[in-house]
Amino acid sequence: MKRPKNKGRVWERGQTGFDEAVLATSFNGRDPGHRPQVLVEANNILDVQNALARAHEEGLKVSICSGGHSWAQNHLREGGLLLSMARINQVKVDAEQKTARVGPGCWGIDLNRTLKKHGLFFPVAHAPDVAMGGFLLQGGFGWASRALGLATQSVIGLDLVLADGRLVHANETENPDLYWAARGSGPGFFAVVVCYHLKLHQRYKSVGMKVQVFKRENLDDVYRWADEIGPNVPRSVEFQMLMTPKAMGIFKPGIEVFAPVLTHSWQEAKQAVQFINDSPIRQKASFTTPLVPMSTNFMSIVANITHFPPSVRWCADNIWTNAPIDSLLPGLNNIMDSMPPAPSHSLWLNLYPPQSRPDMAYSLEADRYLAVYGEWKRAVDDAKYENWATGCMETMQQHSVGIQLADENLGKRPAPFMAAENLEKLDSLREKHDPTGLFHAWMGRHDQ
Ligand SMILES: Cc1cc2nc3c(=O)[nH]c(=O)nc-3n(C[C@H](O)[C@H](O)[C@H](O)COP(=O)(O)OP(=O)(O)OC[C@H]3O[C@@H](n4cnc5c(N)ncnc54)[C@H](O)[C@@H]3O)c2cc1C
Repeated sequence: MKRPKNKGRVWERGQTGFDEAVLATSFNGRDPGHRPQVLVEANNILDVQNALARAHEEGLKVSICSGGHSWAQNHLREGGLLLSMARINQVKVDAEQKTARVGPGCWGIDLNRTLKKHGLFFPVAHAPDVAMGGFLLQGGFGWASRALGLATQSVIGLDLVLADGRLVHANETENPDLYWAARGSGPGFFAVVVCYHLKLHQRYKSVGMKVQVFKRENLDDVYRWADEIGPNVPRSVEFQMLMTPKAMGIFKPGIEVFAPVLTHSWQEAKQAVQFINDSPIRQKASFTTPLVPMSTNFMSIVANITHFPPSVRWCADNIWTNAPIDSLLPGLNNIMDSMPPAPSHSLWLNLYPPQSRPDMAYSLEADRYLAVYGEWKRAVDDAKYENWATGCMETMQQHSVGIQLADENLGKRPAPFMAAENLEKLDSLREKHDPTGLFHAWMGRHDQ
């Protein structure tokens, strides 16, 4: 993705450059063929209010994007008005209060760089260019989220433009229902976020990464081990594994075990990742690195180069699961053997969420998270690969308790994404705050 450099403007369908401007809003290089009638690149709140007024007047349904990282390209719908918030990307830090006001178009890496100057931290997404707009609405599993909570738990308030054009603030005491809804509704939110008010955290002093790589033939052993150690991995470690056709260093199908760690002392960091050195399958690893100091920004940039290149075609899907590992292994082997070429990959995350979280729309998760990301470059391969991710997850559906909205593909595979009572409450709030259905809801639901 590129940061927008030009001043935002209004594009009408059919104008020269319209298609390019619309497709440039999306990280995923796949062209779904849908085009809005109008694209409004907002520069400020007034532009947002004018866009919504026009949408009302002309009967246009509204979709919104900030950083365009929805894998499913949720904002690219046929007809209607597409509102891009990419240019509303300011960051204002109050270092004394440890708070910040951040525009939805702000990228995680930009926020992190600003906070570094103040010795402060926010659990931004793992990819540098994911914007706060969509990231915080869907929950936000960011750096240190196992320790600090989901990023949305550090949202202390929001400025919103509602369907009727009013600018309101929402927090625990002011418009609490909107505050509740914004933290977890993800691509089904029914207002425009124009500013997030964030609680900031102390910056970690010791940050590093340990890596271990296994060949494909060890797949069953590696996932059994990961499953066994899951509940005991320290919260300072974001233990995750990537299965890929071209694993780091061995350039063959394999499993990359990553243990990024964020702590306040190097000694603590070393102890936290010791379980990798002590692993009973360590001898089977092709290699194990020492714990190497590196910043989260560096890790994010490298991950983008190696695993998340932009402007290529992607399909993604996921499941939350508590199922026994033996029942998951056939599905995991199928993912490995059917995966499109690298950098396609599958993510396994030992989340083990806390016993409880604050009351908010976000309400569905499990101990383990499994996601698949298929990548290809040529339009002629669309038919071959675009259903790969949903196909893999369909075969494992019976082991799933639902999906996470970060990697949703609801248009292709509907699945539960929040607790039933929360979804009911969210639907009634939608009726209250967006009675005419101005905003699109999740794909595959309500309006497709
Ligand atoms: C390479 C990559 C890495 C990722 N890494 C992580 C990660 O580490 N952790 C994680 O939790 N997720 C991750 N994600 C998922 C990502 O957080 C979600 O896709 C998120 O929605 C992206 O936000 P965005 O603003 O960039 O995307 P957009 O596509 O712009 O937004 C997604 C949806 O959110 C809604 N929306 C966006 N902005 C607004 C707004 N201002 N007001 C109202 N609604 C709005 C819209 O419905 C929109 O369709 C990753 C995705 C990618 C592609």
